[in-house]
Amino acid sequence: MSGYPTHSDRPRIVKVEESRIETETARTIFFRDEASLKAKPGQFVMVWAMGADEMPMSLAAMNDKGRSAVTVKPWGPGSNLLCSLKSGDVIGVRGPYGNSFTPKKGSVLLVGGGSGVAPLIPLSQTLQEIGAKVTFVLAGKTSGDLMLLGEAKKIISKPPHNLIIVTDDGSAGVKGLAPDAVRSLLGKEVVDQIYSCGPEKMMRMVFDLAEEKRIPVEASLERPMECAIGLCGICAVGKYLLCRDGPILDSQQLKAVSKEFGSNRLDRAGRVVPV
Ligand SMILES: Cc1cc2nc3c(=O)[nH]c(=O)nc-3n(C[C@H](O)[C@H](O)[C@H](O)COP(=O)(O)OP(=O)(O)OC[C@H]3O[C@@H](n4cnc5c(N)ncnc54)[C@H](O)[C@@H]3O)c2cc1C
Repeated sequence: MSGYPTHSDRPRIVKVEESRIETETARTIFFRDEASLKAKPGQFVMVWAMGADEMPMSLAAMNDKGRSAVTVKPWGPGSNLLCSLKSGDVIGVRGPYGNSFTPKKGSVLLVGGGSGVAPLIPLSQTLQEIGAKVTFVLAGKTSGDLMLLGEAKKIISKPPHNLIIVTDDGSAGVKGLAPDAVRSLLGKEVVDQIYSCGPEKMMRMVFDLAEEKRIPVEASLERPMECAIGLCGICAVGKYLLCRDGPILDSQQLKAVSKEFGSNRLDRAGRVVPV
């Protein structure tokens, strides 16, 4: 990556082919984009909600019968506009950007919370294809907040793979927080690698549990990002720029940014705020 915009950093205007209902407010938006077909699990695209904002979004699907997809949870103007789009509306897409997860064989644990489930869906598919034993902890506040549950059920459909649903209020699956389920699992099973994406405090707790057992982690951090090409610095975490060096950091890198990881971040104006 040069650090300066190139022709390929120009948004490509694509049609929304389908907007699938995920939860009451979240949507999975399908589109056709040649470049996204070649992305690897964990990479993201910049999605331009015209008239509102441009945001980084993990690819929840790269090549679902030629279509790619992002799963959007509404927060501010940009994500709210994306969630209101209908088939035939248009968005801008540039990228894919960032690094990707490193698929490993053996017994692997995926921990996804909220929209952080998105990049773990294509990863879980790849992991199964290479022969890993996949346990997927899929968490949400309530049963109505579980993202991409249908997709996860399709992929994690039979033993030795295992899908563990966790909700804060117990309205579906196990009652509690994702790290509670991880703690209980690590008490009885050998895990060779953990992958996580979701609220940063959740990922920090999972990382601390993994460190106790010396299990390597790859965590995808969802922080504000503007340019995605290493120019603006808004996505800085310690010495790393998430758009260029991430969004996935491994255990060594997470240790290097231990003070910030799960505690504070820069907002879009460059001020330090809690995560
Ligand atoms: C690599 C990467 C991948 C991402 N993938 C996805 C994805 O797959 N799906 C998805 O929905 N989002 C994803 N995000 C987050 C997304 O890019 C936006 O931050 C989010 O959609 C809000 O954008 P906005 O412009 O609508 O709101 P903004 O105007 O940026 O924010 C509005 C308000 O909401 C708060 N807010 C925004 N995001 C969060 C959050 N995650 N947790 C708590 N408060 C928040 C802000 O602090 C602010 O107060 C990803 C981020 C990164 C860096």
